[in-house]
Amino acid sequence: MRIGIDLGGTKIEVIALDNDGIELYRQRLATPQHDYTATLNAIAELVNNAQTHTGQLGSIGIGIPGAISPATSLVKNSNSTWLIGQPLKTDIENKLNCAVKIENDANCFVVSEATDGAAKDANIVFGVIIGTGTGGGICINQQVLTGCNAIAGEWGHNPLPWQDAVDAQQIKVQKKCYCGKTDCIETFLSGPGFEKHYQRLSNSKQPLTVKGIIKKAEHSEQHAVTCIELYEKRLAKALAHVINIIDPDVIVLGGGMSNIQRLYKNVPQYWKDYVFSDKVATQLLPPLHGDSSGVRGAAWLWPQN
Ligand SMILES: [Zn+2]
Repeated sequence: MRIGIDLGGTKIEVIALDNDGIELYRQRLATPQHDYTATLNAIAELVNNAQTHTGQLGSIGIGIPGAISPATSLVKNSNSTWLIGQPLKTDIENKLNCAVKIENDANCFVVSEATDGAAKDANIVFGVIIGTGTGGGICINQQVLTGCNAIAGEWGHNPLPWQDAVDAQQIKVQKKCYCGKTDCIETFLSGPGFEKHYQRLSNSKQPLTVKGIIKKAEHSEQHAVTCIELYEKRLAKALAHVINIIDPDVIVLGGGMSNIQRLYKNVPQYWKDYVFSDKVATQLLPPLHGDSSGVRGAAWLWPQN
């Protein structure tokens, strides 16, 4: 049996999978905010509940916002700031008295989709979670690529490639990214980035949700149409840049923005202009496991028994 934990900013979820990926147990708890010790206790409680409920011991994989620094073995790059600088892996292993694997949550997402999801059987898979941020991960032959800095696939704070005059104009008026740079992919492509763009275009006082903007675009509201069309072109440029480097068979989208169905048709039309190839065979697909991919991928971090 495999146990996966998805340590999110607001919820911690556990799943227990049998060897065929069938779900045996699942439970969620609210993440204790700004309390590292309580977070460790919540993880241990969920693992113990899964093992008690199923009557089995399992391997344990954990997906976290951020990564374990290979240089220090401490958590880095986490938006759950109370984890930063903590020896999370050692502390959990001591608490549970067994080895655990820990990976970035976007890496867990791509492991899940490459193992038994939308990209099952694909050799090279790029998975991106586009929600409040723009995380990314790479799987090759179902094995996650971590990298010597534990940042493989992290594309969100690269600059938007092939910037045109419209992009340059937007960079002038939009706020700096929290990382300190001005033209990060994340500022254009995250859900909040999309919402802010629409708010600026439409001059509205109240921000509209992504869903609301898409609905307006479906009714041909001019600013909403401009906003989603620009979004598709920018996503195509950002993904073409990745295709030119790792040449993936499949790109799977996750997170809130992955629910926008028109992306799967339009983005591959736009990326043809930027990929350095006569034909582009790369497929752009929605996730099969949806929001469950993070926790399932954490469980799949351990190879076949
Ligand atoms: Zn940035």
